[in-house]
Amino acid sequence: MKNNNIILIITIVFSLGLGSSCIDQKKEDKKVTTPKDAVKNQGVTNRDTIRRCHTMNVLEKHLAKTPDLRSRMEKIEEKCQDFIKLRRQGKIKDTDTITIPTIVHVIYSDENDNISTDQIQSQMDVLNKDFSKTNTDIDQIPEEFLTLSADSKIQFELDSIIRVPTTRKTWGTDDQMKFSSNGGSDVIDSSRYLNIWICTIGGGILGYAQFPGDSAATDGIVITPQYFGTEGNVKAPFDKGRTTTHEVGHWLNLRHIWGDGNCSKDDFVADTPFSDTPNYGCPQYPIVHCNSNDMTMNYMDYVDDACMHLFTDGQMERMRAVFTEGGFREGFIKE
Ligand SMILES: [Zn+2]
Repeated sequence: MKNNNIILIITIVFSLGLGSSCIDQKKEDKKVTTPKDAVKNQGVTNRDTIRRCHTMNVLEKHLAKTPDLRSRMEKIEEKCQDFIKLRRQGKIKDTDTITIPTIVHVIYSDENDNISTDQIQSQMDVLNKDFSKTNTDIDQIPEEFLTLSADSKIQFELDSIIRVPTTRKTWGTDDQMKFSSNGGSDVIDSSRYLNIWICTIGGGILGYAQFPGDSAATDGIVITPQYFGTEGNVKAPFDKGRTTTHEVGHWLNLRHIWGDGNCSKDDFVADTPFSDTPNYGCPQYPIVHCNSNDMTMNYMDYVDDACMHLFTDGQMERMRAVFTEGGFREGFIKE
């Protein structure tokens, strides 16, 4: 377990170099564990059943093509750290439940992928449980991490469903599905709605999200239909709605729990242990990396849906920071 004070300082220092820590880390890391290596090391051999999230790949591409994105994200990070500091000092009262109106765009070429309203509602139910710490599998959290499990007091309300038939089979990760001019569906006011696009991404990719700070025209998350919700057209082992919980975590400024790099790379959260690799499948506790037990059961790791159960207090603070006055998502709490 980390010393919180030391790690908070480290986190702030890291935060000020956010851009470089995101995009240059592959150059800096002598030992980058690829998903393929990690899967091999952990004895998971069936590559159809590993979690693949492309959020960081998409971020790298966006940073390369958008000159001021890095500085925008650095400012958000500074504001986030200020919010956390003031909140801990009791100078910010931040206890109200935040409700996120959600628009689901269903883009389908196959009637099976025109997922039902019940399937969509089953996903909303999972989000509301996971973000309020009322998920029933919470009893599987090891004692070491149990007290860190947080109720974020963030809730989600289905506003509307937009259904768009298409002849296109797969969409990739370059945001084409977010534009009607490409046969997709245009974003609806991303300052006041969470936009979720359901379409087949392809390449075994379950989903991807866009971080706070990036373009309003593409803001939201994308999920392949079989990994959305808990009933209807869903596919194990990602049939418990946790792909969307994970991607909404990114949308609310959370990083992967291992910091997408070696032991020196942080996820900017003080109460999560350092690690240098994602975990896959359903690992038996304890799994040790970087001299501490991995929090494999965190929603921001890569384990199967049935094996992830918590956000921590530190993650909850990061997520709530984006809604603060002047925060990137403050539009959600304005009248
Ligand atoms: Zn991810």
